[in-house]
Amino acid sequence: MQVTSELEPLMERLRHTYVGGLTRPHTWRIKQLKQLALMLETHETELLEALQTDLGKSNAEGWLTELGYLHSDISHTCKHLRRWMKPHAVSQPLMAWPGKSFLQPEPLGVVLIIGAWNYPLQLLLSPLVAALAAGNCVVLKPSELAPATADLMARLIPDYLANEAVQVINGGKETAQQLLAQRFDHIMYTGGGRVGRLVMKAAAEHLTPVTLELGGKSPAVVLSDADLTITARRIAWGKWLNAGQTCIAPDYVLVAESIKGPFLDALRDAIESFFGTDASNAEDYGKIVSEQHWQRLVGYIDQGTLSYGGEYDRQNRFIEPTVLTDVAADSPVMQEEIFGPILPVLTIPNLASAIEFIRERDKPLALYGFSRSSRSLQQLTEQTHAGNQCNNDTLMFMLNPKLPFGGVGPSGMGRYHGKYGFDTFSHQKSVMQRPFWFDPKFRYPPYTSFKQKL
Ligand code: NAD
Repeated sequence: MQVTSELEPLMERLRHTYVGGLTRPHTWRIKQLKQLALMLETHETELLEALQTDLGKSNAEGWLTELGYLHSDISHTCKHLRRWMKPHAVSQPLMAWPGKSFLQPEPLGVVLIIGAWNYPLQLLLSPLVAALAAGNCVVLKPSELAPATADLMARLIPDYLANEAVQVINGGKETAQQLLAQRFDHIMYTGGGRVGRLVMKAAAEHLTPVTLELGGKSPAVVLSDADLTITARRIAWGKWLNAGQTCIAPDYVLVAESIKGPFLDALRDAIESFFGTDASNAEDYGKIVSEQHWQRLVGYIDQGTLSYGGEYDRQNRFIEPTVLTDVAADSPVMQEEIFGPILPVLTIPNLASAIEFIRERDKPLALYGFSRSSRSLQQLTEQTHAGNQCNNDTLMFMLNPKLPFGGVGPSGMGRYHGKYGFDTFSHQKSVMQRPFWFDPKFRYPPYTSFKQKL
């Protein structure tokens, strides 16, 4: 679409739809969600192929982290939507008696969702599920860095969802900027903090609220009493899924000094059991999304001692699962979010120093602790900040729709998943309703009875 000429009439059409009330009924919302599920089911092969083209995702990984995830998101939402839409009664204070008070969820209006490239289906469509469930009209802007998936979205969505309520607009930075110049009722952006700041600035022009799903350096802390085989396997899975391009992947590991050697051995065993000794031939190992990201990542490899991996191939945008040790805390690989298959492993003398290390840095999106001691895990949970925490595993918290997902501080603001997504795209309107049959005079001037008491 030619954005400049078509954007304003398109926004007008969406607003007209919203004001007309089409998106309000429960039946309409459910119909859209079911249509979305049908689209995912009918075009599963094409969708998995697009993920393969953009990111080298195997079908199994594409299903596990994108399509399967979306199907359960949709069915959870359909199952609970009627209850979420109901007004929520609260008690009435004596001073305002008789009467009733309640919270009435209402849609926000026309919302913008800017997706990210690393999970180009899940991170575009899961916010869409929440926005439709809440009864909004939606403009979707897929990431241009996953072009096969973005093209497919622009082709399929108009065939399945109500065009007068949902529009897909493809394009790069300029398109995003033109979209951001429009007045939306909410913007959800998933991506890096640099663009996140631009989104928030643009939103401020219209006083539009934002949800920013950003990133950061998510640490994994491994204490000496952890089960090393399982810990290494779970860290390796969370790290090298999607070739490390996961916003909640462990960015670096802080391991207890006494178990550094056995932990590194267990990590190597885990990597080789997943991808063999040559990950470039592994079906379940992805590629780096772009030449620019590939170059950035290759630059990190010599910033420490190579404990594992280190091979790369420009033509296939391949970087081997790589583990670095002896990394300086002030080196770029420990200053910037890695967002790729390189894992620095640093040692710490004890839990207190791990906590201090984490607290000295930006609040991360995710934090992982590994220990058999629930006391240590509790201490780690209570004494650090993070958007989300998972103990003795990685990433799995994403599977629980009852846990809200989102960052804190530089890792983001706002949250979604399950009911939290519905709430993000709704306004909880406070309503008090009073009858006419009781109207004592003392609340009205002249306040004679009050004055006598003063
Ligand atoms: P990015 O920040 O470059 O964002 C890409 C999107 O922003 C695209 O849609 C692009 O068109 C748009 N954009 C680019 N420049 C723009 C500009 N000047 N003005 C307006 N829009 C612009 O993406 P990235 O940095 O490659 O993404 C990686 C980051 O995303 C990582 O930090 C990662 O942790 C984070 N992330 C977070 C989540 C989450 O759910 N919290 C999920 C995935 C990725």
